[in-house]
Amino acid sequence: MDLLNTLVEKGLRRELPTREEALAVLATSDDELLDVVAAAGKVRRQWFGRRVKLNYLVNLKSGLCPEDCSYCSQRLGSKAEILKYTWLKPDEASQAAAAGVAGGAKRVCLVASGRGPTDRDVERVGRTIEAIKEQNEGVEVCACLGLLSDGQAERLREAGADAYNHNLNTSEATYEGITKTHTYADRVDTVQKAHAAGLSACSGLIAGMGETDEDLVDVVYALRELDSDSVPVNFLIPFEGTPLAKEWNLTPQRCLRILAMVRFVCPDVEVRIAGGREVHLRSMQPVALNIANSIFLGDYLTSEGQAGQADLDMIADAGFEVEGAGTTTLPAHRADALAAAGAVAAGGCGSQASAGCGSHDAAEGAGCGSHAGGCGPCGGHAVPEPAEPAEAAANQARTDLVAVRRRGAGTDLAPNA
Ligand code: SF4
Repeated sequence: MDLLNTLVEKGLRRELPTREEALAVLATSDDELLDVVAAAGKVRRQWFGRRVKLNYLVNLKSGLCPEDCSYCSQRLGSKAEILKYTWLKPDEASQAAAAGVAGGAKRVCLVASGRGPTDRDVERVGRTIEAIKEQNEGVEVCACLGLLSDGQAERLREAGADAYNHNLNTSEATYEGITKTHTYADRVDTVQKAHAAGLSACSGLIAGMGETDEDLVDVVYALRELDSDSVPVNFLIPFEGTPLAKEWNLTPQRCLRILAMVRFVCPDVEVRIAGGREVHLRSMQPVALNIANSIFLGDYLTSEGQAGQADLDMIADAGFEVEGAGTTTLPAHRADALAAAGAVAAGGCGSQASAGCGSHDAAEGAGCGSHAGGCGPCGGHAVPEPAEPAEAAANQARTDLVAVRRRGAGTDLAPNA
């Protein structure tokens, strides 16, 4: 297929595909799908080999958010029966993080619900980062605390954060249909603040909220423009009790096409399969590892993932390997650029912190992204076009696969890692 040959060549050269090429990936047929995966796999292997980076989410503060992100089980007015708790103490968070690291995670993603942190929250998270780094040598820490005010990204970096996650989630044109309490521009601003402070920026999207192919391409092009080092791709978990509970628009094939499009547009960045992996890719998860080079280990913010050991078995069975702590995630050109940016932000010191960033990776993506992992869209007004009827009809509501998290952080039960 000429399209795929062109996309592979461009991906190997880090050249931006045209919008038409990106849209054409989303429009490929099921007969072409394995060719699409194989082509995206060539680009993935060029920049990341057969390595899979594992990330571990710690939900520092769950639920009770004043924002109204429609996809989110923690949103204002959510009826989802999720765990609700206020800030974990630094030692509690560190204990949860240690379980993830013991399970093979290289990065810990510290996420808190809310519009954005107060300066006191930033200090609190700083103490948590310190505790985690003391107990887990070499671990990368990404913070995901919502919208940042001036100076907060710098303080997080000084406290030892390597990265900051804040997802764009969807296109600018549809953003208002998803959230009314903050804007797309607010989100872009926070990603730029993280960048400017020398933090590795992690920013991604949520697919399955009723958006069009054009919306998906728009948000991925915006992410490339922002030059995030990692792009978490969330697949909407339609939580009962949220406005998007009925948005079951994804099939495993659609998820694979979306991941491939992201890989072609952002060839040399960490593409992470984030929330919704088990729910929407289902038995196609190992196939997706040919495209993405990163996943979350174990559970998500408010929902349970498959057993951590099942994640590890899947990686081994599919012929991939868990990325070790001593390996730099990003290709050399990106790691060097990040280290240089960190040095500039730190006043030219070439600090260790920036080197750590370089070795990295999102929701969290998961970040608020990973909020995203647990949060979702509103079906509000501005609204995304309905999903293609054929896709929607092909997929059933798999509420049987959605389990609210009842273990790990905020409970007395051991975490899944
Ligand atoms: S995504 Fe983040 S800001 Fe939005 S409702 Fe959920 S927790 Fe709040």
